[in-house]
Amino acid sequence: MSEVRNVIIIGSGPAGLTAAIYTARANLSPMLIEGMEAGGQLMITTAVENFPGFADGVMGPELMGAMRSQAERFGTEIVQGRVTSVDFSKRPFTVTTDEQEYRAKTVIVATGASARLLGLPSERQLMGHGVSTCATCDGFFYRNRPIAVIGGGDSALEEAIFLTKFASKVTLIHRRESLRASKIMQDKAAANPKIEFRWNAVVEEVKSVESGVVTSLALRDVKTGERSDLPVEGVFVAIGHTPNTGVFATRLDLDANGYVRTHDGTHTSVPGVFACGDVQDHVYRQAITAAGSGCMAALDAERFLEGWPEYANEHSSVTA
Ligand code: NAP
Repeated sequence: MSEVRNVIIIGSGPAGLTAAIYTARANLSPMLIEGMEAGGQLMITTAVENFPGFADGVMGPELMGAMRSQAERFGTEIVQGRVTSVDFSKRPFTVTTDEQEYRAKTVIVATGASARLLGLPSERQLMGHGVSTCATCDGFFYRNRPIAVIGGGDSALEEAIFLTKFASKVTLIHRRESLRASKIMQDKAAANPKIEFRWNAVVEEVKSVESGVVTSLALRDVKTGERSDLPVEGVFVAIGHTPNTGVFATRLDLDANGYVRTHDGTHTSVPGVFACGDVQDHVYRQAITAAGSGCMAALDAERFLEGWPEYANEHSSVTA
């Protein structure tokens, strides 16, 4: 039988790492399971200019590296692994990864959200061979080449603007004729001479699976039904995110879109299990709000543990 931890945190984005910093400083010796996309979405971002405390901005990976070091400095044990199942039906809870089984009195779910895909077979087959969901990771490969970005939200525009540093031309393909993105991003994109908009268009196929690289996109105009071929060498899918809650589907109460429902702060439907960050927030989705809710989850877990019989003997509270 594995040792029973005070708290296991699942996820290593701003929410998970902030929960780790707070629970570690409360002497709760947290264990954090890092997951496959260590550091979360900020690892695939360039400059972060709205995180308070960085007057000149900070690179996403640098910010996450600093949060990780801070969590480790106070004694967080960070382990790698993909959580394959959880048992929240009895305490202590069990969290199983593809490597090991862990037990804990409390669990903080901070698994974030993942990039959504169009769902085309060709998109999947050419992923990593011209299809990408990460401009920061792959933009460099498209120096002086024509590429496309799909989507009409802030993510799509942010990626399109970033990719103009590399590409010869960026075609932004959107299924409607008005953008969902904020006005400031729309203005920036419209003013960029390298960005061209293709309105009312959907991608029917990414070509060419036969040649193993992206050569063009088969498009359909949703208003006229007209089909066309857009020659590009790369395509970035930026159509939003899906919460990473598959493993919790029958264990926690989720909303219609699959986000974990929380109440009274970060409490979930299971007492002793808390959720923070994008996995439970489809409204704000900011690094700073994720970090803030990670702090809340840590304090909620600490208060929950105060009711645990041996808690008072083992720990002193230092959350101030
Ligand atoms: P989003 O706002 O949900 O936008 C998704 C976009 O993809 C929409 O334009 C949507 O079209 C389109 N789309 C969705 N499914 C599609 C499909 N199957 N085929 C074609 N198009 C599809 O997602 P997001 O852009 O990732 O932004 C998420 C949140 O993060 C937003 O609140 C955003 O403001 C925020 N954010 C902020 C920044 C920033 O401030 N710098 C950067 C990134 C994200 P429709 O419009 O027709 O629905």
